[in-house]
Amino acid sequence: MTKLLVNEVFWSLQGEGFFSGRPAVFIRLQGCHVGCPYCDTKYALQRDPKHQGLQSEALFQKASGTSDYFSVESDWLAREIKKRTSQNILAVITGGEPCSQDIADLTSQLGDFGFQVQVETSGTESICCVKTTWITLSPKAKPVLAENWEKASEVKLPVRDEQDILRYEEELSQIPREKISLQPVSCDAKATALCVRICQQRNWRLSLQIHKYIGIL
Ligand code: SF4
Repeated sequence: MTKLLVNEVFWSLQGEGFFSGRPAVFIRLQGCHVGCPYCDTKYALQRDPKHQGLQSEALFQKASGTSDYFSVESDWLAREIKKRTSQNILAVITGGEPCSQDIADLTSQLGDFGFQVQVETSGTESICCVKTTWITLSPKAKPVLAENWEKASEVKLPVRDEQDILRYEEELSQIPREKISLQPVSCDAKATALCVRICQQRNWRLSLQIHKYIGIL
C-alpha cells in the first residue's frame, strides 16, 4: 500500500499548458526541494511533522494555502476522489514536486477509475507512473534529469527573462515544436511580451495561467 503526503485536493479548471480550460481535480502533494524564488505554492514545500494529519475526510474540507497536510493511502485517495467526481475529468497530480513521492499506484488507480491523469513535474526526480499518464515537464530552478526530457508529453517552460529560455536551448532544440509552450511567470507583463515574441519566432505555444486572470484556484 502506497502512502502519500497530500496538501490539498480541489476541483477547478486546468489553467495552464496543453489541457488549459479543462475541468480538473487537482491533487497537491506535499514536499519540494527545488527552491524556485517565484514558487506560488510555498505552503506545500516543507514536510513538518507538526503539520501532518492522518487519513481523514478533512482533507477534502481543508482551506487552500496552509502548510497542513495529510498522510493517506493512494487507493483510498483515488476512491474518495472518484466518489466526489461525477464525470471522468482530468486528474492533475501536482505539488510541491509530485515525483518526490511514489505516485505510480495513484496514477494507475485514477486511470482505472476513468480519469485522464496528468502529472506536473519539474523533472528533477525520476518520473514513475503508468504509461497512459500525461507528463507535463516544467523545468525550474534545478536541472532536469536527462531521462525525463524523453518522457515529457509536453514541455511548459516558465519564463521571467530570456535566460530562462537560453538555459534550455539545447534540450528544446531536440523536442518537437508542438510539445513546447512558454509560460510567463506570475502573469508579468514584460515576461508575457517576451513569450509572445519568442512563440511567434519559434512557432511554440503560449501558456497563460488563465485561473489567475479569472480569479479561481
Ligand atoms: S518546483 Fe514547483 S513547487 Fe517546487 S519550488 Fe519550484 S515552483 Fe515551487
